[in-house]
Amino acid sequence: MAHDVWLPEETIELRTRARKAVASRLAPYARDIGQREESHESFPWEAFRGLADEGLFAVPFDAPVGAGLDHPMLATCTVTEEIAYESSSMAGVYDGQCILVPQTLTCASSALRERLIPELVSGRTAFSFATTEPETSSDLTARRLSTVAERTSTGYVVTGRKRWITNSVAADWVSLLCRDGKDGDRATMLLVDLTSPGVTIGTPDLKLGHRGQITADIVLDHVEVPAGNVLGEPGRGMGVALSALVRGRIGIGAAGVGVAQAALDLAVDRLRTRHVFGEPLGAMQHWQYRMAQHATDIECARSLYQKAALLLDRGKEADTEAAMAKAYGTRLANDVVRDAVQVHGALGFARQVGATGESVRLEEMYRDVKILEIFEGANELQQWIVARRLIGRDVTG
Ligand SMILES: Cc1cc2nc3c(=O)[nH]c(=O)nc-3n(C[C@H](O)[C@H](O)[C@H](O)COP(=O)(O)OP(=O)(O)OC[C@H]3O[C@@H](n4cnc5c(N)ncnc54)[C@H](O)[C@@H]3O)c2cc1C
Repeated sequence: MAHDVWLPEETIELRTRARKAVASRLAPYARDIGQREESHESFPWEAFRGLADEGLFAVPFDAPVGAGLDHPMLATCTVTEEIAYESSSMAGVYDGQCILVPQTLTCASSALRERLIPELVSGRTAFSFATTEPETSSDLTARRLSTVAERTSTGYVVTGRKRWITNSVAADWVSLLCRDGKDGDRATMLLVDLTSPGVTIGTPDLKLGHRGQITADIVLDHVEVPAGNVLGEPGRGMGVALSALVRGRIGIGAAGVGVAQAALDLAVDRLRTRHVFGEPLGAMQHWQYRMAQHATDIECARSLYQKAALLLDRGKEADTEAAMAKAYGTRLANDVVRDAVQVHGALGFARQVGATGESVRLEEMYRDVKILEIFEGANELQQWIVARRLIGRDVTG
């Protein structure tokens, strides 16, 4: 139904390519990824490397290693929407590898960039981004961080624990936010080699959904990090983390749109084919109105994330638009998935029908969709960001 009005040709071309890549390299594994229990061994390498082989991990980067696009943020978010249409959890994996981490790598030394970006793009190596700790996540002030980097003559020694870290069971590297000094009130972002002595990856978290987006603690016990691995300036890590999170939020807004679109398409199909009281379910005005509203909201959410991404591609600030896109797109995804389950009745609630083996994805989607409203800044935090701009920080705090 949607018409492209302002999408650049390169983005339209990429979307077609991404859709084909998702169909051939992700779809065959997606339902298994959605159901399998998290473990160190269950990282979805097949889909991860398949999407990388199709060039989708090159999208955020400059040529010659990267795709060298004029609108890389818009392109990366468009790919995220396409992946989320098939698998919300793989969109989370992609967001970490291709949005959060690449933004932190813009602050890495040229030697590290030359070494690591080809590895990231190839899908040979997984990367993580870590700000969250057991006692803090929404509130990322430096004083709240208990992961501490103590300065030495050659760099830093890091001790602490990060929680819920996407891709950590498979990653070789993490962009890690720590407090700079035990009594410091500033944060530093470090690129940490996860094969270093003193690093342990915890037991994977067993979650309601997003089973393909495997999370675990990263525990650091006196881990030595060379001074050359500082991302940005020492003591300025919060800015690096927040600039990555602004981009990540637009990506999660795009993931919300992909999930909402998939749920709407499933619901519409069911409204056309399922009969109740002698008519197709779609003859009921109740569902006509609800689906029309969802279709309208999807258009709005897609425009919102595209606008936020374009602002960044033009070198402008997009903090407010990113917050709007994240909160709006992910709340919408929850609303549409809930209605899609409702429209399918018991079939929407079933993992598999015993007698027929029939299975729609909605049980998986219903489990997956909730986290979109929580991670990368809970939606209340996004509303707070908007309210601060709207009303003024002198009033909102
Ligand atoms: C699948 C998954 C993947 C993740 N991946 C990563 C990762 O790769 N790296 C990483 O660092 N972290 C990651 N996280 C952590 C995630 O970002 C945090 O869980 C999220 O930021 C919320 O933090 P919290 O769980 O500590 O909740 P809290 O900070 O305790 O917040 C709890 C609730 O409080 C409410 N709240 C918070 N702030 C406000 C406010 N200002 N106003 C009103 N209400 C508010 C919200 O409803 C929020 O849900 C991941 C989590 C999951 C589940």
